[in-house]
Amino acid sequence: MIAVPPYVQALLAALRDAGFSAYPVGGCVRDSLMGRTPSDWDLCTAATPAQTEAALAGYRLIETGVKHGTVTALTECGPVEITTFRTDGEYLDHRRPERVTFVPDLREDLARRDFTVNAMALDPSGRVVDPFGGQADLAVGIIRCVGEPDRRFGEDALRVLRALRFAAKLNFSIDPATAESAVRNRALLDDIARERVFAELTGLLTGPGAGRVLREYAPVIFQIIPELAAEEGFDQRNPHHVHDVWTHSTMAVDAAPPESVLRLTMLLHDVAKPPCFFKDENGVGHFYGHGERGAEMADGILRRLRCDNETRERVCLLIANHDICPPQTTRAMRRLLAKVGEDAVRQLIACWRADCADRIDAVLATDTPWETLIGTAERILAELLAGPAPCFSVRSLAVNGRDIMALGIPEGPEVGRVLAALFDAVTDGTVPNEREALRNKALVISREKD
Ligand code: ATP
Ligand code: MG
Repeated sequence: MIAVPPYVQALLAALRDAGFSAYPVGGCVRDSLMGRTPSDWDLCTAATPAQTEAALAGYRLIETGVKHGTVTALTECGPVEITTFRTDGEYLDHRRPERVTFVPDLREDLARRDFTVNAMALDPSGRVVDPFGGQADLAVGIIRCVGEPDRRFGEDALRVLRALRFAAKLNFSIDPATAESAVRNRALLDDIARERVFAELTGLLTGPGAGRVLREYAPVIFQIIPELAAEEGFDQRNPHHVHDVWTHSTMAVDAAPPESVLRLTMLLHDVAKPPCFFKDENGVGHFYGHGERGAEMADGILRRLRCDNETRERVCLLIANHDICPPQTTRAMRRLLAKVGEDAVRQLIACWRADCADRIDAVLATDTPWETLIGTAERILAELLAGPAPCFSVRSLAVNGRDIMALGIPEGPEVGRVLAALFDAVTDGTVPNEREALRNKALVISREKD
């Protein structure tokens, strides 16, 4: 028996009291049947948007997409989308339907939905309405189109990527007919708005089945990020690396914590390896500069995918630094902290770890294992943060511009120069981040100049 939360029951009751059938539908039914807590509850109803608004007069409502039949009710427990039963009209350009038609029947509404596991509703007695075998597919872990795959992907090509996203998120496989059609129809994704593509891609990447889905459906991924295609089969000719660059990248995705920044970073981190490849006189492969070059390529890719600026900038920063050696001294760690900031250092540590998950360090017996280097860097970071007055930017120095001027240094660029030199000294560990010590050092620095 699925437990519908009271705030959702209240909405259902209001619609039903006004004489309209109404059902929880889609992801919330699927997740509940899987024993997961749904992230949100979507409702469908026979009421038109105007009738929904009248029936829910006591609620704060947003007309989300009245043309497509959706009204959002803002409840004390969060927004709930309520969509009128509809069928989708003509599809142009493999995108959204030109116009939708409201229908009186739940079954027709379920028929327009993408996959069987997403095409179920919950009736008032708690019974699952499941005309397309969603429960059977859920039981064996299969994503399958409702209806004929070619037609469904032809209507809305985003479904190609949604199939992959659900396979990764639920750790399901894709039914062979659906899978074959998805791959064959992948070029239709070119017509889809990049932000919709990006949203599905990040959903895919953060799922527990991400690496497997990336490997199984590589052609679909290369359709949206053609720059990655050169990684497939690319032999690194380096004893540290056993897999081709693409397989390695997919394994690194799985090895990173499931956050979009880290997973995007691992997906793209070696994108510049093929263009940076260089073979030395012993036939060993090297990729000098692939971090920096990769950051440039990732910047272009993420701009094209309409990724938000904050995510794009952080991913590029991490890629640019992913192939540096983890700092092995306090001084090196201070420098890295000053360069990228504490958050990014933590993320870099996670990236380094994910990057070496499939590395064979034992082959070079004299090298310190990568894992040991990362562990040392992590320990140094923890010690620095636990130490007195951690200081990783000019702003966290124990003195400020006013203190410097109070020493008789005139207002102007000299104050900035002294602060920068103090920060360098603290970063190098030659002066503690303490007021008295810094004031003395400031005098020395300003005298040095004369
Ligand atoms: P999640 O919990 O990840 O949000 P969800 O199933 O709720 O999963 P949404 O993208 O929020 O996924 O979509 C809600 C429902 O709307 C789906 O379950 C599906 O029934 C339907 N749906 C969404 N997008 C499409 C589409 N492009 N084509 C057909 N049906 C769709
Ligand atoms: Mg949803």
